[in-house]
Amino acid sequence: MSLLSQSDELQDTIIIDGREIFKKKKCCIMAGPCAVESRDQILYTAEKLADLGIEVFRAGAFKPRTNPYAFQGAREEGLKWLEEVRDTYGMLIITETSDSTNFEAVEEVADIVQIGAKAMYDHALLRKAGRTKKPILIKRHFGATVEEMFKMADYALLEGNRQVMFCERGIRTFEISSRFTLDLCGAAVIKKETKAPLILDPSHSMGYAFGVPDIAKACVAFGCEGILIEVHHNPKEAQCDKEQALDIEQFSKLYQEIIAIGATIGKQVV
Ligand code: PEP
Ligand code: MN
Repeated sequence: MSLLSQSDELQDTIIIDGREIFKKKKCCIMAGPCAVESRDQILYTAEKLADLGIEVFRAGAFKPRTNPYAFQGAREEGLKWLEEVRDTYGMLIITETSDSTNFEAVEEVADIVQIGAKAMYDHALLRKAGRTKKPILIKRHFGATVEEMFKMADYALLEGNRQVMFCERGIRTFEISSRFTLDLCGAAVIKKETKAPLILDPSHSMGYAFGVPDIAKACVAFGCEGILIEVHHNPKEAQCDKEQALDIEQFSKLYQEIIAIGATIGKQVV
């Protein structure tokens, strides 16, 4: 079967506001907390990351939590704080839509619309994402094959969008000492089979902060166009994915290291 996901029609360079953000010679570090919790948290973290030179700020205002009693994100109000980040620090925003009910609100604020791993199977959401003019980042479900991800992405591509990126964020295996297992073999298949930028996610795959820097370094050396990494100003207090968040100091050290690694393989880390 020939899939649009694997066709020449996809864009290998994603341009936002006239800037080439994702391309073969670059690795774009998208950093920020898992969830939008409060205005202070968002603006403080964004300021620190902007100072380091980070161009794309990540944070989810709508969190698709497995536990319905867990914090679900600051929702519509949180999107306003993300707009403030863009206006104040000139950063681009990647934020996730958890289902069709919040797609339009997210689309309006996001520079890149994130479709989370669990939403990868949401047909209606993918169809909506296919009609936006914004780039979309599709995270591979932890139980999906690469081919299943490509097929689901075609629901979006069939609606016209050609600015799609694929993210490997860990799959479920028998190993339970890490949260998931980063499937770099699958990532190699993504790299071979599609022109679309490849994004890797060391935070969700590892699930524990102690392993995140080493994996992030391996991801940059692997050669991807972007990395999603969770950073919290006070991980102990984080309301979502606290175990895997790096603090600002840990991230800052890692960022310098991955800039150097990128240079060795001809990738400009931004
Ligand atoms: C996230 O990026 O915070 C997230 C929810 O990731 P995933 O969809 O991969 O679980
Ligand atoms: Mn998270």
